[in-house]
Order: sequence, then structure tokens, then C-alpha cells
Amino acid sequence: MNVRVKNKRRFGLWCIVFLLMFLNLIFAINKRLSNDSTISKKQKIALNYKVLAGDKDGSITYSESKYFKKYIIDCKSNNSLVKWEEGKEYIDISLKKDEIKKLNIKVEESSENKDIYYDDSSNNLMIKIKKAYNENNFVNVDSNDAKKIVVLIAKEEKPFRATVVLDAGHGGEDKGASYNGLFEKDITLKIVNFTSEELMFNGFKVVKTREKDELLYLNQIAKIANEASADLFVSVHINSNKIDKYKGVSAYYYDVNGFQKDERIKLARTIQKELIKNDNWEDRGIARESLSVLRNSEVPCVLLELGFISNYEDRSKLMKDEVLKNFGINITKGVSNYFSAE
Ligand SMILES: [Zn+2]
Repeated sequence: MNVRVKNKRRFGLWCIVFLLMFLNLIFAINKRLSNDSTISKKQKIALNYKVLAGDKDGSITYSESKYFKKYIIDCKSNNSLVKWEEGKEYIDISLKKDEIKKLNIKVEESSENKDIYYDDSSNNLMIKIKKAYNENNFVNVDSNDAKKIVVLIAKEEKPFRATVVLDAGHGGEDKGASYNGLFEKDITLKIVNFTSEELMFNGFKVVKTREKDELLYLNQIAKIANEASADLFVSVHINSNKIDKYKGVSAYYYDVNGFQKDERIKLARTIQKELIKNDNWEDRGIARESLSVLRNSEVPCVLLELGFISNYEDRSKLMKDEVLKNFGINITKGVSNYFSAE
């Protein structure tokens, strides 16, 4: 009996010793982590901030073009607007603490060179992104996905090489072509939003004729392009026909008495060539057509008919965001090629 009690005591003693050792270890690890060796002394500005990695695996993704660095912050819920301030060297974005999906924190040797930091020690989550230039940095909620915040940081002092006016055909009570609750006005707005994001990232200033579901009169549309001192005007539409076998994409141009005829044909051709490169669209080519927005525009312009809502195959494609995004990418390539071919 005595012996057993002794053993129990000894066992209890060992337990306490191990527990103390374990706590000590935890304490040591904690202390090391809180030291935060990732921030160099040079970066006093980011004193309370920890380095954040923006890459494809996290909820902050990073990509860059010749003109901009782009960070997309993936949030849990929809944002209508985002709170941000522009300081001398950094842009500070304030989010609700649990708003961001998953902070992708990478503690690496090279992380000293990163230019994005976070601080979650206060009530809000603050994200700090380094600027290169004072002007032309943008923070916006993605027009097609309100859970995403898009940050563009200019890599050049003047990142815009031209101005493009984008027109999302129809709007408001003018629904355009439709099929079973699917409306042309909604698809064109989505395509224009995707195109706008691509164009900006690739160094084009964008002016949209409409940002939301609203009606614009035809004479208003060309006027916006003329007054924006734009270099190009692109109007986006979806086609429809009583005969449902018609399908594919086409680009319309028009010249009044030969006005800008060569440029306008070149623009239509260049964009059309890119449009058919993805998603197996039938190539209906380019055509000359006296359409109001083309007639009244003073700058080279094109009206795109991107698929037939009346055709089953086209309609199925038009319901997919990836397809509409490809239109945005390809319109941008066309615009880019138009300028570089000069
Ligand atoms: Zn239309």
C-alpha cells in the first residue's frame, strides 16, 4: 500500500516537471514569434505592421503588368465601398477585422522586400500597401464581384497611354434583347466591367457611359465619348434574331463620307480577330452599318455584337462569367494591338 502511494506521488511530481518544461517551451516559442524578425529596422513606417504575402494561394492575390501592380483582396461579404486613405508612401485600407478570408502570412528571409503589410492589433484590420508614385493609385470594389477589393498601384508616373470610352449597350427600361429573364443590358454591363478592369491594368484610362442599370439616350452616348477627349470608343451589344440558328460575334464600323474610314475598319478588324480566339465563337466578321453611336462619334469607334441571345449555344456561353471575362481580355488585346500597329 505504502509503495503504491509513493509511486503515485512520484508520478505526480514528474507530471508537474513535464508540464513546467512544456510551458517553458511554449513561452520561448511565443517570445520568438512576437519578436517579429521579418520587419527590418529601416521600415519604421510599418512598426506595428507585419509583412503580408500577396500570392495566388492567399486571399490577397498579386499580379503585375508593365503599368500597374494589382492586389485583389478577397473578402467574406459584399462591400459597397471600401475605406482607404492615401498617405505619402502608403495606401491604408481599413477593413472589418474578420472581413478578409484568410491572411496569407509568409515569414521568409526575403519578405523584407515585400510592400504589403497588415496590422490587426486594433479593432479594424489595416492593410498598408506601398506606393511608387503619388498619382494614379486606385482602390475599388470589383464591379462584378462585390466580395473583391481591387487595388492598382501605378508603376509609372503616367501609366495611361490612351483613353477608351466603354459603352454597355441599353439599360434601365430599355432592356435590349432578351430571353427568359436574361437581358442584354445586364450582360453588356458585366462585359464592360470586365473589360474596364483589363484595360486599366494594361495602361488605358477608361470612361464608362454608364456604371449601373440606367437608361441613356442614344445622342447622349456619343456625346460622352466626344467630351471625354477619348482616343477610342467601344460599344458593347448582344445580338438577337427571330431565326434561332444564327450565332457568333461581329464588329460593326461606320464612316460618314469616309470620315476616319481606315482607322475604323482597322479597329473593327483588330478587335474582331481577338474576340474569336476563345470559347469557340463563330466569326461573323466585320460590317459597315449606319448605327447612331457610330455616326455621331468623333473618335474611331466600333460596335460589337457579342453572341446571339436567341441562339441556345451562344446563350449558354453568355451566362458564364468566365466567357464574359474572356471578352474583356480579348477586347483589351484588340485595343492594345490597334495602338501598337500604328
Ligand atoms: Zn443592343
